[in-house]
Amino acid sequence: MAYSTKRRFMAGAVCPRCSQMDSIVVYNLDGKDFRECVKCDFKEEMRLNIATSELDTRVNHKPDHETVQVINILPLDSSDKK
Ligand SMILES: [Zn+2]
Repeated sequence: MAYSTKRRFMAGAVCPRCSQMDSIVVYNLDGKDFRECVKCDFKEEMRLNIATSELDTRVNHKPDHETVQVINILPLDSSDKK
């Protein structure tokens, strides 16, 4: 997950240093994601390892109930059937 090199506010984010809400901007620099507070000098590199490719393949899979066939096995002694 890579942010744009243009700084963007992160809605609802709270600065861990000054506790101000909506003061965190995120941006990408040299292939790394950073988050930075505009109200104090907080700055941190974000290290997120999210396997998005794995999630995509799981979404494409059909649910199990669509491929399972319901098979009615009749008992060998079916003399009492209707
Ligand atoms: Zn701050």
